[in-house]
Amino acid sequence: MGALSKKLRAADGGSLLFWCPGCDGAHRIQVGEGPGPRWGFNGDPDRPTFTPSILVTYNGKDAGIDGAPPAICHSFVTAGRIQFLSDCTHALAGQTVEIPDFDGDL
Ligand SMILES: [Zn+2]
Repeated sequence: MGALSKKLRAADGGSLLFWCPGCDGAHRIQVGEGPGPRWGFNGDPDRPTFTPSILVTYNGKDAGIDGAPPAICHSFVTAGRIQFLSDCTHALAGQTVEIPDFDGDL
């Protein structure tokens, strides 16, 4: 895994990682040619744009409690900014923020 910029890292299989401050974790986007869903990428590691929107669902902090709903993170990444849609279950729903820099080694 290598750093493309302060905001993006390259991972296996042509995927890219960016840090999501809403989830406090990295999201992986697959770009270019290859199996599975692929996103469009504008090729700018400092001001990335991904299309279409990114929908991530995962077990939330309440995972382990029977019946707890999955957490949702749904965003558009455009020109280095993350626009969180209102269906996000985290505190940044409805807000637009800069992609934060990765610090250290994750
Ligand atoms: Zn997220």
